[in-house]
Amino acid sequence: MNNLTKFSLGLVFSAVLQTANASEQKQPNILFVFADDHATHSISAYGSKINETPNLDKLANEGMLFRSAFATNSICGPSRAVILTGKHSHKNGFMNNEWGGDFDGSQQTFPKLLQKAGYQTSLIGKWHLYSTPTGFDHWEILPGQGRYYNPRFKSATGTVEVEGYTTDVITDRALDWLDKRDKSKPFMMMYQHKAPHREWAPGPDHIDKYKDIEIPEPATLFDDHKGRAASLSPDLEMSISHFLTKSDLKLEPPAYLNEEQLANWNRAYAAENKAYRENKPQGDARTKWRYQRYIKDYMRSVDSIDDNLGRVMAYLKENNLEDNTIVIYSSDQGFFLGDHGWFDKRWMYEDSINMPLIVKWPGQVKPGSENNDLVQNLDFAQTFLDIAGVKAPKDMQGKSLVPLMKADTDAQNSEKTLNREPFRDAIYYHFYENPGWAFVPRHYGVRTDRYKLIHFYQLGTWELYDLEKDPDELNNIILDESQSSLITQLKTRLSELRTEYQVPEEDPEPSLMERFKFWMMHKGLSSQLED
Ligand code: CA
Repeated sequence: MNNLTKFSLGLVFSAVLQTANASEQKQPNILFVFADDHATHSISAYGSKINETPNLDKLANEGMLFRSAFATNSICGPSRAVILTGKHSHKNGFMNNEWGGDFDGSQQTFPKLLQKAGYQTSLIGKWHLYSTPTGFDHWEILPGQGRYYNPRFKSATGTVEVEGYTTDVITDRALDWLDKRDKSKPFMMMYQHKAPHREWAPGPDHIDKYKDIEIPEPATLFDDHKGRAASLSPDLEMSISHFLTKSDLKLEPPAYLNEEQLANWNRAYAAENKAYRENKPQGDARTKWRYQRYIKDYMRSVDSIDDNLGRVMAYLKENNLEDNTIVIYSSDQGFFLGDHGWFDKRWMYEDSINMPLIVKWPGQVKPGSENNDLVQNLDFAQTFLDIAGVKAPKDMQGKSLVPLMKADTDAQNSEKTLNREPFRDAIYYHFYENPGWAFVPRHYGVRTDRYKLIHFYQLGTWELYDLEKDPDELNNIILDESQSSLITQLKTRLSELRTEYQVPEEDPEPSLMERFKFWMMHKGLSSQLED
């Protein structure tokens, strides 16, 4: 081999190396920050009237905020299964939290596809799909719902118990994994909080916040549900006025606190609880008292999530990961914050199905931008694959959001944006879990940018809302004869969507054993109600 050949080979070799390095750098890290039951109307970037979330606001200022992101089936496990698979509940098989079996981890998921594409994948925190996680190089999960203090973590090597407030502890463990990961590969981490799920137990940092202030009540706290499915559902169990337990209301401390935590807890609630017991409010005053107790604890739980997001963002900056890491903040669904007199979710109404979705992608997403297209958790899997440059399999049912994210930074795209077709004209929603907590009837429906049509097929009723005129969804106009052509149009679109997504005509039903198990659990909770 002469010197010239050696020289050329050397050039080729270094070019190959450079290309390899460049392509490694091209695949950005993906950090998915996920909360449980975090409603958009408790995030100041979304216009919250009740609290401030400075770190979430900062993320929105540095990225894109999606205003119209919706869950396909508004409960914990099903939403997570949709995100992992990019398929509706009836396709991924996890349709309910409480019955119908565990998530089938042998199926195709986006983390498995990212692993194949060279990503190191991890899952830390809440899982709630019962089966052992698959597609993750590292996973440590809270068993079931997990608890708010001194959480247990289950991993491939066993179960450990860690002292502390769960939102802080999940973050400690996420940062620990980031330190220890294989730094030669891009990473995808699902960092998933338990908070602010029921029973909204605040951490020591915020337990005294909002103490002497009155939180504004939602306009619909005393909704009578006239003309809507809730008034036809006598078993419904989600009203602030009747279905909060002693532990939800912090009239009983949780059993999982250590001595020091318990002392701090009792100190924080003692005076207010004493005053409550000595002079129990009645009627509307009672509902108002319960709303204040509920919403303050909910916001305290959110405060810790916001703090910890700040910690994670600081870590990315300190470790030079900021520029090449996409940070996505979302939650499995929304939540009623006293709206319609409720806590909880499940219904196809806006507060329940609207998910927060904030994306920071340096160099690609325009800082401080907003999007109002109809997007869903169904789109996340294909979006993550697109970000990584992986082609999405044909059987996924969503659409990549990457073109929406880049629309404002890409001049060519921006031209098109002015005149473009809507990303999606309508979304499909389907809730199956009845029997189930709260006893919301099964329903499916369609939502466009302006209208929402819902079919409560167990009740044999329909509802129609004009979201422009009636954003609170108080006025069901299904019987309004002047709407008949609109109703026909929406019913046609609904039926087309059911065909397109291949929704079966018949729902699965719980077995006798599942019914019995659920009834036993439910009985346990009912006995805990504060009356
Ligand atoms: Ca949830």
